[in-house]
Amino acid sequence: MAKDYSNYSYWLESCGDDLTPRPALDGSADVDIAILGAGFSGLWTAYYLLQRDPSLNVAIVEKEIAGFGASGRNGGWCSGGFPLSMGELERRYGAGAASQVQREMTATVDIVGQVAASEGIECDYEKGGSLRLARGRHQLGSIESAFRALQERGIAEGYELLDQAETQARVAVRGAIASLFNPNCATIHPGKLVRGLARAVERRGGRIYEQTAAAGFSTGKRPVLHTDAGDLRADVVVLCGEAYLSQLEQLSRQVLPIYSLIVLTEPLDDAQWEEIGWQGRECIGSSKYVVDYLSKTADGRILFGGRGAPYHYGSQIDDAFDRHEPTHEMLRQATLEWFKPVREDQFSHAWGGPLGVPRDWMPTMSYNRTTGIATARGYTGQGVAPSNLSGRVLADLITGTKSDLAWLPTVGHRSPDWEPEPFRYAGVRYVQQQYFKLDEQAEQTGVAPDGSSLAERMSRH
Ligand SMILES: Cc1cc2nc3c(=O)[nH]c(=O)nc-3n(C[C@H](O)[C@H](O)[C@H](O)COP(=O)(O)OP(=O)(O)OC[C@H]3O[C@@H](n4cnc5c(N)ncnc54)[C@H](O)[C@@H]3O)c2cc1C
Repeated sequence: MAKDYSNYSYWLESCGDDLTPRPALDGSADVDIAILGAGFSGLWTAYYLLQRDPSLNVAIVEKEIAGFGASGRNGGWCSGGFPLSMGELERRYGAGAASQVQREMTATVDIVGQVAASEGIECDYEKGGSLRLARGRHQLGSIESAFRALQERGIAEGYELLDQAETQARVAVRGAIASLFNPNCATIHPGKLVRGLARAVERRGGRIYEQTAAAGFSTGKRPVLHTDAGDLRADVVVLCGEAYLSQLEQLSRQVLPIYSLIVLTEPLDDAQWEEIGWQGRECIGSSKYVVDYLSKTADGRILFGGRGAPYHYGSQIDDAFDRHEPTHEMLRQATLEWFKPVREDQFSHAWGGPLGVPRDWMPTMSYNRTTGIATARGYTGQGVAPSNLSGRVLADLITGTKSDLAWLPTVGHRSPDWEPEPFRYAGVRYVQQQYFKLDEQAEQTGVAPDGSSLAERMSRH
């Protein structure tokens, strides 16, 4: 039976397309560029390649439909944040590289909005910034020190440390005693963006073959993307499957698929919004280890996302894992706890999907001329804006366009492999369980974890 793709997220359901798959690849072919994956990374790469050189023959193969992966299911944060903190980037790559990442990420948030506007993609883009809440004294220190670090580096422009009254005036969240406002964040309708981007790529001459699965690739002067419908021989093969790359034998330990889950309310009524506020549509999160991320949709719903769903042995990915009732219930309860006016019967959707975590939390945006392979991957759940940067980086590298982007520390990077099983399972589940304990302990004692526990050291970023 044909899949109903609208069931995979509210974003796909409400993107305005009927989601009928495009035709699959029907045999082997020669192209200039063969791309695996029609998510943001693959589509932005195709988009910028065709912008740099409209004569290129670009083919994307997509196992399901454009936007099927994380790009069509995420929390809607188009954020200037980066998976690695500024401090960790400085420690690993130096202050110059860290500030280049910061500059490029800040610019990228605007670039996404500008391209959407110029391509006529109505994706509810609104640059309302983000608020990192301190819900309790234990979360106060981390936002204060984050603000101090920005000030010390001279990059705090537009940021604001808000006290309890100022925070509550923006959004009435129970228990919020302060917040850090970051101006470099927009909220989007990811389904509309990813599906609109696919059409923009096609308008520029790119071809997208849906329901065509790549099984592997060969390297060389003329690399090949092997698919279930034939081989695509190309000058360059670009691998953009994020979490799903773990299912290819050749990359199975490069990214770890971790499930992030979301619940969504129906549109709240005016009286409820009157009480909650949140007029600026800021993206909202706190400093929990079991990450929480919230956004307000253009049609007045609350999206509450979080990690914490268990890792599956052997990096398995399965549609059944998109729904994990204990995690979804935890997210519903959190929504009710945070927002007093929301009622229990107001939840309309619940979904989830896998995101890709590299062993060192550092994304890769790379092209190796010798192997003919380019790749963009490893965003650890923060890939909406970075995937646009990936697209520009890969387009410059592949077309040989001279640009400062070639100096980013993501270029030429390769993360260490994850441990083989059963060590991977044991380690990841240990860290996941400790995160819950660390959050619980901090809440009970009012004291933040000090970074010295094994789990924190194992996942330092
Ligand atoms: C629930 C959730 C919430 C998130 N929230 C946010 C957020 O708010 N902000 C943020 O910045 N990031 C968020 N992320 C992460 C972000 O969505 C991703 O980093 C980003 O979308 C990655 O884009 P991508 O194109 O690299 O990968 P994907 O969007 O996953 O695309 C990969 C594509 O490859 C296809 N594919 C897989 N295997 C094959 C194969 N063998 N052959 C052909 N095609 C294949 C898939 O079907 C998929 O369409 C979230 C992720 C999840 C899962």
